[in-house]
Amino acid sequence: NDLYGIQEAFQKLGLQEINNGTSTGCVSFSNGAIIESYSPVDGQLIGKVRASTAEDYQKAMETAAEAFKTWRMVPAPKRGEIVRQIGDELRKNKQYLGKLVSYEMGKSLQEGLGEVQEMIDICDFAVGLSRQLYGLTMHSERPEHRMYEQWHPYGVVGIISAFNFPVAVWSWNTMLAWVCGDVCIWKPSSKTPLCGVACQNIVAKVFKENNIPEGVCNLVIGNACGDLINTDPRIPLVSFTGSTRIGRHVSKTVAERFGNTILELGGNNAIIVSEHADINMVLVGAVFGAVGTAGQRCTSTRRLIIHESVYDKTIDVLQKAYAQLKIGNPLDAANHVGPLIDKGAVQDYLNAIEKAKQEGGKVIVEGGVLEGSGYESGCYVKPCIIEGKNEFQIIQDETFAPILYVMKYSTIEEAIAMQNGVPQGLSSSIFTTNMREMELFLSQAGSDCGIANVNIGTSGAEIGGAFGGEKETGGGRESGSDAWKAYMRRQTNTINYGTALPLAQGITFDF
Ligand code: NAD
Repeated sequence: NDLYGIQEAFQKLGLQEINNGTSTGCVSFSNGAIIESYSPVDGQLIGKVRASTAEDYQKAMETAAEAFKTWRMVPAPKRGEIVRQIGDELRKNKQYLGKLVSYEMGKSLQEGLGEVQEMIDICDFAVGLSRQLYGLTMHSERPEHRMYEQWHPYGVVGIISAFNFPVAVWSWNTMLAWVCGDVCIWKPSSKTPLCGVACQNIVAKVFKENNIPEGVCNLVIGNACGDLINTDPRIPLVSFTGSTRIGRHVSKTVAERFGNTILELGGNNAIIVSEHADINMVLVGAVFGAVGTAGQRCTSTRRLIIHESVYDKTIDVLQKAYAQLKIGNPLDAANHVGPLIDKGAVQDYLNAIEKAKQEGGKVIVEGGVLEGSGYESGCYVKPCIIEGKNEFQIIQDETFAPILYVMKYSTIEEAIAMQNGVPQGLSSSIFTTNMREMELFLSQAGSDCGIANVNIGTSGAEIGGAFGGEKETGGGRESGSDAWKAYMRRQTNTINYGTALPLAQGITFDF
């Protein structure tokens, strides 16, 4: 009966009937209520985890704080070597973990495997980085003085992640934090807790083989742990990925105690389709962007801003493409669109369509919930397209579902103003072969987002670049480029190797 190899994956990933939050050795951080994880794929109960109590959390924190004292003294390239081994272990487990992601979260198996590939890629990146945590040297204004800056680890980093990238987001944060010398406490989404346990098991194997102290990698489970992390002065950095609503609360709470945050919040991403666009390329970028992961990516394409001269043609090709979409079990490679995460998300989708209609939206491709054989979980919905105005309240909000809003523009300046005219600022894109439009879009008068692409859709970033966005997306950056600096504290050092003690700015102080 193990048609898609799920049971085999569970066994290989060391999942038990009831799973606990733990440190990577054996300390259990779970004495709370049982959380049940149901698959949106078939509605089946797939496993149980026990939540962490406040006492469990305290134990995790103490274990982490103790481990930091050892871990920070391990040379960074040696920490990189541990991360290299984790990358190898992920390679061995790619099929199993990819399947678990697909089954617990509901994204296609291809995307589940892609997520694990991202984890492998960030491990490779972090290994190289472990020899490149560069500071700068400066010339001192005083004679016989040397001045430089160096980067030290913060300590315990709290990671709170969303359901839609249940493993990759953790790895973006953790692999960088580890080579930087930090230790981590992870609270995964309660909608995908088994993915958290599976990652912990993979790391535990490598840590055990290398005698890494208990507490470098900690997993706590359950929503209540969120606020314990936010308010804990022993956690100098909280990296939060999730909705703008909860991110706002996290941001305020952590700021109140002068902690640092990396905030990766909601997006409202648009593609501008210029009259100079290659429509075949638009088709792939827009359809994958809007329906991939059933519209549950922070970078999903929510809005298409189309030049009036190519509007009808673009709508026509989109309608034809949407008619061919296959919706169904995401573990079956023949399907393009899987389920939403749960019935609450289905309700949000239905409410959004209703609201768009009330605000005057015109349905171009009809939505709806699918029923019958293969759709028993009640989480499968039809991707839909609605024509609307950028200022509709529903279009200003992020709905985490496959709803694409289309709208017309006449000048490129107007299109850029529409693209920027939402509270969020994550990903953006223009399809054009016109060099002037392209450069304007990328200029300081262009897109206001953290990600701006040309002839590529809004979703599917590579790990080499810094990932994140502006405005209500929170301003955080993770993954590539110099995002590592957010996981370390900067220290400026001045050394006097002379025999006098001159003061800066020429100040004299004689006595
Ligand atoms: P969510 O905000 O509902 O939950 C995110 C995490 O916050 C979960 O682990 C949840 O348990 C936790 N949480 C709940 N209450 C908390 C509290 N008081 N304090 C601290 N943590 C708390 O988001 P979701 O539905 O899991 O994910 C979807 C959202 O995440 C979308 O808005 C999406 O755009 C966003 N997202 C953003 C990025 C990005 O990089 N910008 C990436 C992925 C997802």
